[in-house]
Amino acid sequence: MARIKFKDQTVIAENNETVLQSLLRSNIQVPYGCQQGVCQSCLMRSLDNTPPSSSQTGLKETQQKQNYFLPCICLPENDMTVALPNAEKTWLEAEVIEKKALSINVILLKIKSKEPLTFFAGQFVNLRNNDVIRSYSIANTPNLSHELAFHIRILPDGKFSRFVADDLEIGMPLSFSHAQGSCHYLEGKSEQPLLLIGTGTGLAPLYGILKDALLTHKHQGEIHLFHGSRDESGLYLEEKLTALTQNYPNFHYTPCLSGEVNNEKYTKGRANEIALKQFPKLKDWCVYLCGQPEMVLQTKRATYLLGASLKDIYIDAFSS
Ligand SMILES: Cc1cc2nc3c(=O)[nH]c(=O)nc-3n(C[C@H](O)[C@H](O)[C@H](O)COP(=O)(O)OP(=O)(O)OC[C@H]3O[C@@H](n4cnc5c(N)ncnc54)[C@H](O)[C@@H]3O)c2cc1C
Repeated sequence: MARIKFKDQTVIAENNETVLQSLLRSNIQVPYGCQQGVCQSCLMRSLDNTPPSSSQTGLKETQQKQNYFLPCICLPENDMTVALPNAEKTWLEAEVIEKKALSINVILLKIKSKEPLTFFAGQFVNLRNNDVIRSYSIANTPNLSHELAFHIRILPDGKFSRFVADDLEIGMPLSFSHAQGSCHYLEGKSEQPLLLIGTGTGLAPLYGILKDALLTHKHQGEIHLFHGSRDESGLYLEEKLTALTQNYPNFHYTPCLSGEVNNEKYTKGRANEIALKQFPKLKDWCVYLCGQPEMVLQTKRATYLLGASLKDIYIDAFSS
């Protein structure tokens, strides 16, 4: 018999009883409809254990990875802590543990959460300073010490980024939201070629996805990363990325400059154009596009026309 925790109540699921039946029997009011796993109106998320895969039938792959499930068809196999979507605590507390420059205008910010975290590298969280709330992509892989790393571009008059640059110090508290978004590595297709294209701090989610693929999941297919900027100041982590190409023969890194190029280590041109010229056939590829919205939307269309399936194109569009 499994124990189901919902908010501050715990109920015991009797044999052959679904999570929904257990909650309703205990007079816990939650939304539900068909009770047959079709309408998805009872959708919930498991905050600790992975739900039985049969209770995730019909959900999107990214929802499944984030432990969403349908309580009306869930016969619990273990104890579970469950929540309604968006009913999780909105703001979590963390402490700043590292802040350093990655380039003249990009800062690496690391925070450590006070409680365990569920996230995928490449998803984003909202960071908050009083009433200023901004989204930032997670550039590291999940770890036991509950740390999150961000690459934050400092804008001259940016409210949040200037706060990070000027006021935020190691040891200070910072509020953040649960991780969101479907732009992350998906297990189970280890041989699939991956194309990662990013501009500016669009590298943040791509760096997380890359490390998840190579280090955590030992991805076997070819991985090509194209990182673009107008000038050298927009590129960063070049040494780390070059070192990864030496340790992982299936990883290839092309830093691109669309402005003037005075150094042969850079390829001249826009990252997306260089990438698609090199790979004009993208059937069966998985594509990740992050950064400038115009680049992302234009390249999404182009990669689809070159054969990539829409379900294999993941995007994060933001001023980068
Ligand atoms: C899903 C998502 C993920 C994101 N991930 C990241 C990330 O990993 N790293 C990151 O740095 N940002 C990321 N962003 C962008 C981030 O949320 C902020 O929008 C950005 O940091 C600017 O916030 P700010 O408060 O500093 O500037 P604001 O106070 O919001 O803007 C200040 C001024 O700067 C202008 N401005 C805004 N962007 C630019 C720009 N790029 N160049 C020139 N002027 C500009 C604005 O128009 C405004 O006039 C992400 C956004 C989304 C939606």
